[in-house]
Amino acid sequence: MVTCPPVVLGDVEITRVQEYAGPSPATPSFLFPDSDPGYWDGNASWLDPGFYDAASGTLRSVLHTWLIRSQGTVILVDTGAGNGKERPYAPVYAHHNTAYLENLRAAGVTPEDVDIVINTHLHVDHVGWNTRLAGRDWVPTFPNARYLIPEPDFLYWDPIRMPRPPGDGNQNVFEDSVLPVRRAGLIDLWNGEHRINSELVLQEAPGHTPGSAVLRLDSKGAGALFVGDILHSPVQIISPDVNSCFCEDPAMARATRRRLLAEAADRDLLVFPGHFGGGSACRVDHSGTDAFVIRDWADFARI
Ligand SMILES: [Zn+2]
Repeated sequence: MVTCPPVVLGDVEITRVQEYAGPSPATPSFLFPDSDPGYWDGNASWLDPGFYDAASGTLRSVLHTWLIRSQGTVILVDTGAGNGKERPYAPVYAHHNTAYLENLRAAGVTPEDVDIVINTHLHVDHVGWNTRLAGRDWVPTFPNARYLIPEPDFLYWDPIRMPRPPGDGNQNVFEDSVLPVRRAGLIDLWNGEHRINSELVLQEAPGHTPGSAVLRLDSKGAGALFVGDILHSPVQIISPDVNSCFCEDPAMARATRRRLLAEAADRDLLVFPGHFGGGSACRVDHSGTDAFVIRDWADFARI
């Protein structure tokens, strides 16, 4: 069981709920084909061990949920890979048996306590705990929650509307982690902007996927952006034109990343990506050379 003390911004409390943190088989040249292959070893002094393992030449994998308590509402941002899923073309996410729900309970939250589940997008590693296996059926893990899903992603990842190419890593994901929630009547699709309360609003931030979303937090002058996979690695802060190989629209992904990083730098916003190790969330500044630098890390226990 992993526990992680929260960070407080204004009246909002944010806790990192771990699903997995450890080795990954992925190399930088696979996940970030745009990146300079020499950059990773050349910057191992700060990338290793939080983000990169120089000894093996592979990336560090981190899967977690951001647990937000705001105005009495319990909110989960992204739900990892889930346990027991069949992922024939993404074996790294298949047949997990992690202590995610125990870690959530250690943060004081049972599945029944969750009011809102946010999927920033519908990739395999962001919707897994939307459902759990009950007998032979996938059922909603959070039976009292409303699940907020960007409609462009809901339409894009539905294999009936948009057949996926052979070998697609997102195979089965819509069927086992989205449709059971839809059938239970728990999904609210949204477009453009969706306000949750006076402190939190979802806005579209397309590029990584057509419906990728950013969650904005504003409480008593403290601000944050939950950016999902607009940032996979801090290398994309230093080099904002570096996409992951899973960015569906490369040009739009770069533009969205630059727009959000500039806003975070201008407005002193804490940035919460989906998969950062190390301090997990950070503030950024303009570099002065059309890119960005990491100013400081949030006060989370380092992973
Ligand atoms: Zn992801």
